[in-house]
Amino acid sequence: MISPARVVLGIGSNLGDRIALLAAARRRLEETGSFLIMRASSIVESEPIGPPQPRYLNQVLIGETRLPPEELVAAAKRIETELGRRAALPWGPREIDIDVLAYGALQVRSQSITLPHPEIAGREFVLAPWAEIDADAHVPGLDRTVAALLADLRRDAGRAGRILATVADEGRREMKIVRTLAAVREWRDAVPAAERVGFVPTMGALHEGHRALVARARDECAHAAVSVFVNPFQFGAGEDFASYPRDEAGDAEAARAAGADLLWFAGAGDLYPTTPVVRIDFPDLAARLCGRSRPGHFAGVALIVAKLFHIFRPTRAYFGEKDFQQLQIVRRLARDLDFDVEIVACPTVREGSGLALSSRNRRLSAAGRNAATALYRGLNEARRAFARGERSVQALRATAERCFRAEADVEIEYLELVAPDTLAEAAAATAESVLLVAARIEGVRLIDNVVLGRAEEPPL
Ligand code: AMP
Repeated sequence: MISPARVVLGIGSNLGDRIALLAAARRRLEETGSFLIMRASSIVESEPIGPPQPRYLNQVLIGETRLPPEELVAAAKRIETELGRRAALPWGPREIDIDVLAYGALQVRSQSITLPHPEIAGREFVLAPWAEIDADAHVPGLDRTVAALLADLRRDAGRAGRILATVADEGRREMKIVRTLAAVREWRDAVPAAERVGFVPTMGALHEGHRALVARARDECAHAAVSVFVNPFQFGAGEDFASYPRDEAGDAEAARAAGADLLWFAGAGDLYPTTPVVRIDFPDLAARLCGRSRPGHFAGVALIVAKLFHIFRPTRAYFGEKDFQQLQIVRRLARDLDFDVEIVACPTVREGSGLALSSRNRRLSAAGRNAATALYRGLNEARRAFARGERSVQALRATAERCFRAEADVEIEYLELVAPDTLAEAAAATAESVLLVAARIEGVRLIDNVVLGRAEEPPL
């Protein structure tokens, strides 16, 4: 099986029921299994090129295919014929036109196919909808971004194929904010079976770390859904449930900017109308590390994640490596309970100082934030020692601890080197071993970790 290629298609119609024909083209592309749509632009109406004829409706689709380029072009031609396109003048009019604009980074020029499409730079009806969904994409061979090509074209007053209007909101990705379980179910039921749903569960107070998860879901799936729920059952007595940061307006803005399609501000009335009696335990995994000081925490996480998986039925669910133990527990949850979901691990997003972004950072003073940077510094020092050949667990821990101790305000709860899947303490360090820390700074509990053999995450 070849791995899927990222492909950009332009579809257009200027005869018949143009909106319905574009919709039919999208459906057939997916039904034949030749193309999975990940993003669709707005539909625009454009001036026809060539002899006098009706105006076109155009749309750009970004998706994935496993077909080689020639077969994709052949599949597109078959769909054109099935949708009633007759062999006509080279410049239309036509019921449906499906052009392969770009196929990965491929550049070919043969009798049957030219990639990227040779007319891209001169067509506003291609560039403008493409820029709407992926402005920063580089067009192979032109070495310019879509946005730059569009700006160039718009400077040229005599351009052809000018856009006259945005016709329909169909295909446009407006984010929907919902507050009830019923609304989520309705949204989910309307997603066609062949389309991927990417899901990002959060507790809100969204930051760049969450945004990276949502952006990845949006890039890899046709639909990206985000939930915000501060789950009472994963907080212990005396923990910060009541003071956990909440910021609905900021969350809506961040989710929208990252490209979410659906944002659910979930309520306990919907998720826990009665106190749950089911408990999901992970005797070893959940007892280690954070589990020692937070008994019941991961049972609470597992239950809410299981419920959300049932509700969203995601194709892929995105979790941050910052919460490494949680990630491993969610992986086991999906595997042991046969959730048909791919768990996608996303690297930790950090400030320039190296501090891992966390909603709880908001509760630190400037001095506390500064002290907190010692966590990543210490983990990184250990990672450097490992790169220099140190394999003793004790020595690596001592290296990290020296950094932590330099900050009087950092109170370490644990510092452990473990095997990634079992989370059991490592006897000797390997490239896969994970060094994890939990600490309290100004009463705020923070966690962080690094994989010893991995390069540093680039700061924001
Ligand atoms: P939370 O809102 O803290 O429950 O986190 C929701 C998701 O975002 C979890 O999968 C976290 O691991 C992830 N996340 C939180 N902070 C970061 C970060 N700095 N980098 C990457 N992912 C993160």
